[in-house]
Parts: sequence; structure tokens; C-alpha cells
Amino acid sequence: MIVVPKIRGFICTTAHPDGCAKHVAEQIAVVKNRGPIENGPKKVLVIGSSTGYGLSSRIAAAFGSGADTIGVFFEKPGDAERSATAGWYNSAAFEKEAAAAGFYARSFNGDAFSDAMKAEVVAAIKADLGQVDCVIYSLASPRRVHPKSGEILKSVLKPIGQSYTNKNLNTTTGVVDEITIPPAEGDDVAQTIAVMGGEDWEMWIDALLAENLLAPGAKTFAYSYIGPDLTWPIYKNGTIGKAKEDLERVQRALDEKLAPLAGKAWVSVNKALVTQASSAIPVVPLYISLLYKIMKEQGTHEDCIEQMDRLFRDRIFNPKPDEAGRIRLDDWEMEPSVQQPVIANWQKVTTENLTELADFDGYQSSFLRLFGFGLEGVDYGADTDTATKVPSIP
Ligand code: NAD
Repeated sequence: MIVVPKIRGFICTTAHPDGCAKHVAEQIAVVKNRGPIENGPKKVLVIGSSTGYGLSSRIAAAFGSGADTIGVFFEKPGDAERSATAGWYNSAAFEKEAAAAGFYARSFNGDAFSDAMKAEVVAAIKADLGQVDCVIYSLASPRRVHPKSGEILKSVLKPIGQSYTNKNLNTTTGVVDEITIPPAEGDDVAQTIAVMGGEDWEMWIDALLAENLLAPGAKTFAYSYIGPDLTWPIYKNGTIGKAKEDLERVQRALDEKLAPLAGKAWVSVNKALVTQASSAIPVVPLYISLLYKIMKEQGTHEDCIEQMDRLFRDRIFNPKPDEAGRIRLDDWEMEPSVQQPVIANWQKVTTENLTELADFDGYQSSFLRLFGFGLEGVDYGADTDTATKVPSIP
């Protein structure tokens, strides 16, 4: 089948198997070019391993640190008439590259929030790895079925207390207009915390601890974002920010639970980047386009793979925690020399000057690359096998 991008708002409903494989190969090359990571984790569980920060974590763990990896994700396989989701093709490509390099890699496709998925992964660790020494928690989901109550919980992206109006970018047309987002109502905050907060992270670590599957010194990381104050009403001080605060509550609880193993839980605050999750957040894509322009000009731009390589290569050994005990991989993003011009451009940006002040091309090409489109060396006119399998998934 010939696969072309079909963009609907902030998602692309198709994905290119060869393009996704190339995207994974390029990320592997970034890590390999930086050389091996000495004394890094060797047996790594990544929850949310198929796209974005989780995929890059898995790649840095395997191809930098030489780790065996288990990945958990929620993706749709393809068939002869329909392409799979990008994360499916990414995981297929990752596993093939890992096998060729001699690393164990096994993947599980299904609901990470469920007890059944935890039980499957626990059994796999017991059977195949004995223990893991690192657990990455990188889920981004709009909903969660609570494993105990069966309740369907929904995460929303809303300000709290009052509505929020700011500039917004239509990432398909390049039109800069204004958006007003009404405030959270009812139990929006509680539901968003239940989906994107720390409860499920803690459930995973509890499940592993209960079966003695965490090695001495094991570390676990969950990812967060803070950003500049212009996005705070929709991010840090909004419903999603409350969920991220809850991650920090759980991080402290996990620190206590891991202390007998001399283990450690971290919240890592990462850079704003184009991913499937971030493209759904109002206001943020315009900020990211302005940010990319300045960080590329200054030579400090990183994508998910450079961020995760930095986590595994440096911060895991040299965490440099902030006043709240978090790792800050957003350090270069938050530099005043970056923020000042970004904020100044934010005030000025319009549809007319967008391509001058912002890296809109970079935004769009990063977005398409998430789905395997626009990668060099891929023949997009050729027939491709959309029914590609993930080798470890029956
Ligand atoms: P993403 O959409 O690229 O990845 C989400 C992952 O979660 C995918 O692997 C997906 O398959 C998996 N997933 C979703 N629901 C699942 C379920 N029910 N069961 C199993 N797997 C499921 O998102 P991302 O941007 O990489 O986000 C990962 C984390 O990083 C989030 O906590 C996010 O808040 C954080 N973060 C993102 C940014 C950013 O700018 N993108 C910045 C800082 C922190």
C-alpha cells in the first residue's frame, strides 16, 4: 500500500512503516554517535515506550547503556488496507534493531493502567530478566479505566478558576488567532489527576516490589513539564499541572518505598517538544514553534532523543536536583537567554510574521516525522507493507 499523511486537527491518522523505522534508526544513530554509556542501567522497563519521550528513553537505554528492555504501549496494529499507528511501527523497528545488536527486547500492547497488563509484565520480568534496575514511566493518555473501581476517568486540559485567553496556532494552516479555554468544572481536576497523576506509577512500582523484581539501587523516573509563565494557566496551574504535582507526591512516597533497596524515584522535568501528546495542548504548539526558532539559532535545540540521552548519560549519575528535588532537563529551555526572546516574540507574533519569528516549518516537519513522513531516504511513492508485525507480539 502507498501511505500518505492524513491530518485531522492535531493528529495524523496514518503512519508510514518505513518512515517510522527510519525515525527510530536516526534516533539510534544519535545515541551511538555519542558512544557507550558506562555503568548505566542494564534491565529497563519502559511504560509508554512506543512514541515521544518513552520511545527515546528505550532507545537511549538499549543503544547507549546496552540495556535489555521491556516496553509497554497502547497502539493499533495495521493490516493490508490500513496503516498501524506510528508507535506500532516504531516498536517493530526498535525490536528489529535491538535484536540485530544483540539486546533482549520484548513489548506488550495493551492498557498499562490495568491489573492484567501489570500481571503480564511481572510474569515476563520474572521469566526473562529476574529483576529490572530502571523503570521509566512515560504515559500520556486522555483516559484511564480505574483498575479497582472500573470507573472511566478523563483527563482534560483546562485552566482552573477562570477562563484563559491567549494566542493560539492552527498547526495545519499557520493561522495565529486567539483561543479562550473555559475553566475546569465539576470533578475535572480530580479526574485529570487520576489519569495523568502518580497513582498508576505507584501501582506499577508496588506490583514490582511485591514480587521482588526491583534490583538493588533501582531507579524510576516519571516525566513532567513546567514551562514559562505565559503557559501556566493552561499547563502548570491548570488541570494537567495538578496531575504533575501529584506525580511529585508519589515520587516522595516511592523514595520511601525504595529506600530499603537504596533505590530512588525521580520526576524529570523535560523540554517542550512536538509529540502526539503535546500537539493536543492549546497554546503550547505556538510556544514550541517560537522556542525551536531561538534554540536552533543558539545551537541548544534538542529533540526527545537528545533529551533522553542526556538523562541516561549524565543526569542519572549527576541529577543536580532543583529546590523541589526534580531533575531539570528543561534547563536549556528555561535559560533567560532563550526565554527573553521567545517571550518578546510571543507578544509580536501574528499570522503574517509567523514564519519570520517562529520555526513553523520545523514544527510541521517534526509533527510529520512523528508519523514517519518526511524522512530522508524513504521512498514514499513505493508500495510498503502496512501489516508489519512487532516481533515479540504474537
Ligand atoms: P506520547 O503521546 O508521545 O507518548 C505516550 C505513550 O503512552 C505512548 O507510548 C502510548 O502508547 C502510551 N500510552 C498511552 N495510553 C496508554 C495506555 N492506556 N496503556 C499503555 N500505554 C499507553 O507522549 P509524550 O509527549 O512522550 O509524553 C510522555 C510523558 O512526558 C508525559 O508524562 C508528558 O506529560 C511528559 N512530557 C512531555 C513533554 C512534551 O513536550 N511532549 C514535555 C515534558 C514532559
